[in-house]
Amino acid sequence: MSKPLEIARLHKRFGGLVAVRDVSFKLQSGEVVGLLGPNGSGKTTVLNMISGALPCDGGTVRIGDTDITRMKPHRVAKHGVARTFQLVRPLPTLSVAENVLLSLAFGHKRYWGREARALAEEKLAFVGLAGRGDEQVGNLTYIDQKRLEMARALASEPDLLLLDEWLAGLNPSELRIGIDLVRHLQSEGMTVLLVEHIMEAVRALCSRCIVMSAGEKIAEGPSAEVLQDPAVIKAYLGD
Ligand code: ADP
Repeated sequence: MSKPLEIARLHKRFGGLVAVRDVSFKLQSGEVVGLLGPNGSGKTTVLNMISGALPCDGGTVRIGDTDITRMKPHRVAKHGVARTFQLVRPLPTLSVAENVLLSLAFGHKRYWGREARALAEEKLAFVGLAGRGDEQVGNLTYIDQKRLEMARALASEPDLLLLDEWLAGLNPSELRIGIDLVRHLQSEGMTVLLVEHIMEAVRALCSRCIVMSAGEKIAEGPSAEVLQDPAVIKAYLGD
């Protein structure tokens, strides 16, 4: 069973700019929650602090009872957190399976040899790339690259998945495939924090949303309510 995520009073400065100011929220295990806000509002910086890619200037990140605030990304991964675009992007000269195997080495359980290969095949099948392990990444279509990115994130067998605009750039039929894949993960109990601009996806997937603007959390609640909140609409229109 996955563990809840709790971030409390997270703070990040870049020189004179406060990119994230005192942001707090919780995700219960198995929830799919949207993290929304106009460009530059601090969403990716929050993901980077959760995943250990950026040190926080203040605040805490907890997974269940464990404080992961000052952990490096590989240790955060061992506590069950994965993200798309984590560590390295797909390497185009390697095969599809090799890319997943590379991510396996960073997982919170380590796999080698035949066991690793079987797990890579399992993750590829889950995302819809069954039997495609020997193909070159450079030849994949866009939706298949997205599938591979997801398989790589799942290779570490996470409990919490951070998706940073993973659905961006998909055409309408591909978008449906992407949404269905996240739904499938949800049905298996995965906790997901979804940074997303595509409102169709947010409505379809997220029971709750958190909205940021200029580094601060400005709204949080059931998606239907939050998306009609005048302060949220104003933040987007002001973008
Ligand atoms: P979002 O993901 O909501 O678009 P970001 O978290 O990427 O927002 O950025 C928040 C703010 O922090 C922006 O003003 C951005 O320019 C700034 N920022 C992000 N990363 C860096 C960095 N590495 N160095 C300096 N400024 C940064």
